[in-house]
Amino acid sequence: MTSEQLFYDKKPGFDRLTDGDKQGMQKYAEGYKAFLDEAKTERDAVKEIVRMAETKGFRAWKRDDILKTGDKIYQVNRNKGVMLAVIGKKDIAEGVRLTAAHLDAPRVDIRTVPLYEDGGMAFFKTHYYGGIKKYQWTAIPLELRGVVCVCHDGQMKTVEVRVGDKPGDPKFVITDLLPHLATEQMTKKATEVIKGEGLNILIGSAPSETVDEKCSDKIKLAVMEHLNRQYGMVEADFLSAELCCVPAFKACDIGFDRSMVGAYGHDDRVCSYPAATALLDLAETPAHTCVCLLVDKEEIGSEGVTGMQSRAFDTFMADLCRAQGALQDECYEHSVCLSADVCNAFDPNFPDVSEKRNDAKLNCGFSLMKYTGSRGKSGTSDATAELMARIRCIFDKAGLVWQTGQLGKVDQGGGGTVAMYLANRNIDTVDAGVPVLSMHAPFEVISKLDLYMAYKGFGAFYQD
Ligand code: MN
Ligand code: MN
Repeated sequence: MTSEQLFYDKKPGFDRLTDGDKQGMQKYAEGYKAFLDEAKTERDAVKEIVRMAETKGFRAWKRDDILKTGDKIYQVNRNKGVMLAVIGKKDIAEGVRLTAAHLDAPRVDIRTVPLYEDGGMAFFKTHYYGGIKKYQWTAIPLELRGVVCVCHDGQMKTVEVRVGDKPGDPKFVITDLLPHLATEQMTKKATEVIKGEGLNILIGSAPSETVDEKCSDKIKLAVMEHLNRQYGMVEADFLSAELCCVPAFKACDIGFDRSMVGAYGHDDRVCSYPAATALLDLAETPAHTCVCLLVDKEEIGSEGVTGMQSRAFDTFMADLCRAQGALQDECYEHSVCLSADVCNAFDPNFPDVSEKRNDAKLNCGFSLMKYTGSRGKSGTSDATAELMARIRCIFDKAGLVWQTGQLGKVDQGGGGTVAMYLANRNIDTVDAGVPVLSMHAPFEVISKLDLYMAYKGFGAFYQD
């Protein structure tokens, strides 16, 4: 045998693309970019995925509705998560083909009592969400998204807020210190340069014209008058709101060759979008029932009613099983899951933290990760060799460009995904995702080839 046959070599996949792949890849990336601009929060993403699913014949399904082979259904969890399924030909007791990805992304959440005036300007106090480098969030345009649940005279109403994404909209910003006065700041550790309590969002500077002698905070008053006109809000309504600031950048091509996409929130839309669209695009009824699970709260530990640790998924699966006369435990035991989350792409600007042979590389395709975790594989489910082989066979049979990935050098840091929460339920689970540059920054980068291979990989997995 030759060395080429004997050695494993991670190579960029351009020479393995068919003409169909090359065209499909560009078109698919355009759809993905439009999705990124629309779906910057988990709530936006759920709405957009439900809209896309309905155009593909999926219907809202609830407990005890009749189910039959070929049915396409979805269920929304509290507007922040969504579960989609296509009922396969085989008994659900023979297991499902499951993909699980998250819709939340690191961002800056608006505090419960956020509004104040200081130094002739009005600001929102915030609490950051997920693992961010705080200094990266200053001096960039931000937009405001979310909902306010107003409660007046015992009547509740949910109002959607979205400012900064439409042409001509105002935007918001967190200011940074000028270099001329930053001598002391520049000597600080990166974790101290901008503190959590320093992430205050500039939202106004002009005073109200209302004559109100009791009020000394005229700029704050002007902001509240605007919010009241626009959304019917009073300050107390912030107590029951979920508002956040996200980067106001639009997704765009990167590079002269347009081979990459730069955007906010690739983690984990670059996996949730292909996991969902591969299910929506299934040409025929699959053998096994296929389920795509899109959850919230991964970036803060998968806790809560909309996170992966919630019983919401088990309840949905129990309902699916009961509707088909099967036992949930038996279904789980025979199920296979691709836990779809991003991994780091090898970055030649930071070679010291990577392990060249094992980290995923840009353009080498969809990445399978046997384990993630940190400090001796803590916090990972570590897929079995048998499962790795099973998925390898599916990907190879589909002619996929794929590779393996990990999270950098041993003991360099690390991290986890939702994989372990699924594996703990007795579901064979392995991590699979797209390599990302500048992960968790306000503007992340992925390659179109890797994105398209993720879409094809999820499709091959559903059809297995
Ligand atoms: Mn992620
Ligand atoms: Mn993340």
